[in-house]
Amino acid sequence: EVKKNGKNGYQFYTGQLNAQMKEKIELEADLRQAIQRNQIFLDYQPQIRAGDSQMIGVEALVRWNHPTRGIISPGVFIPIAEETGMIYELGTWVLREACRQMKEWHNAGGPLIPVSVNLSSQQFHQSHLTEHIKGILKEVDLQPQYLELEITESMMMDAAVSSSILHKLTEHGIRISLDDFGTGYSSLSYLKNLPIHKLKIDRSFIRDITVDQNDKAIVATIISMAQHLNLDVIAEGIETKEQLEILMKNDCKEIQGYYYSRPLSADEVEEAFFAPLRIESIKL
Ligand code: C2E
Ligand code: MG
Ligand code: MG
Ligand code: MG
Repeated sequence: EVKKNGKNGYQFYTGQLNAQMKEKIELEADLRQAIQRNQIFLDYQPQIRAGDSQMIGVEALVRWNHPTRGIISPGVFIPIAEETGMIYELGTWVLREACRQMKEWHNAGGPLIPVSVNLSSQQFHQSHLTEHIKGILKEVDLQPQYLELEITESMMMDAAVSSSILHKLTEHGIRISLDDFGTGYSSLSYLKNLPIHKLKIDRSFIRDITVDQNDKAIVATIISMAQHLNLDVIAEGIETKEQLEILMKNDCKEIQGYYYSRPLSADEVEEAFFAPLRIESIKL
């Protein structure tokens, strides 16, 4: 009986693995066509100044509208893009589209705020990255201070390499934000030498902050450290008023999370930018 169960279990397991592999291979093939077929698009999540609830930036978040599977999240297809080398083409599309859209909003009289774009490790290490991004900014005529790149601590492992890349980017006027801060394993010493503008406190420290004293201590320490190092700091994943209150009490001035807004479509962002103006002009 044991044998029989074992055999069945084994067969079931391989069946599942095969199904997973098949799905991945299919997605991989579909992803190759996705850009050309206009299935890739960006949502934008507002970044808010807690003091006066003003929008101070937006983070571009990539999505894939798959013809049969519907909207697929980046957590699923970014790793596939990275494994297959498609990340360069995809990343370039994201950078260009985010910058183009921001310029269009600026031109239309929207707020002069920056767009944050997530960079994968492979993009960060691609040769001539700064020249590449400079080209995109020039093409869409966006000034570099309106582009913020979100990178992670794990990309800072080789201090000499990351220092050289970051200096080139920031000398051109591009802003740098450290995403998912606190979850990496790299030493903090890079913070004193590298040209970084902002720390983004990872969502995992925020989730239980109302009940977990350790999370609260870590978050308070990150905020205080950022202030002493003269860095901006933003908390991500704020979902409730109680979480917001703790952040504000600890002097965190910038907030990103469902409490203020989930990621919005480009049309919804436009609405948020321009709808109040429209209402006012109707009144006139
Ligand atoms: P991230 O850069 O840390 O982005 C924040 C993620 O948290 C987004 O998920 C966002 O929708 C989600 N989020 C924001 N506020 C809340 C909240 O209050 N509660 C909860 N539970 N979640 C919240 P999303 O859009 O699924 O993106 C996941 C990750 O995929 C991103 O994490 C980023 O690492 C990666 N990603 C997204 N777009 C790109 C891209 O264009 N290029 C690259 N390389 N990676 C991207
Ligand atoms: Mg991010
Ligand atoms: Mg993050
Ligand atoms: Mg993340």
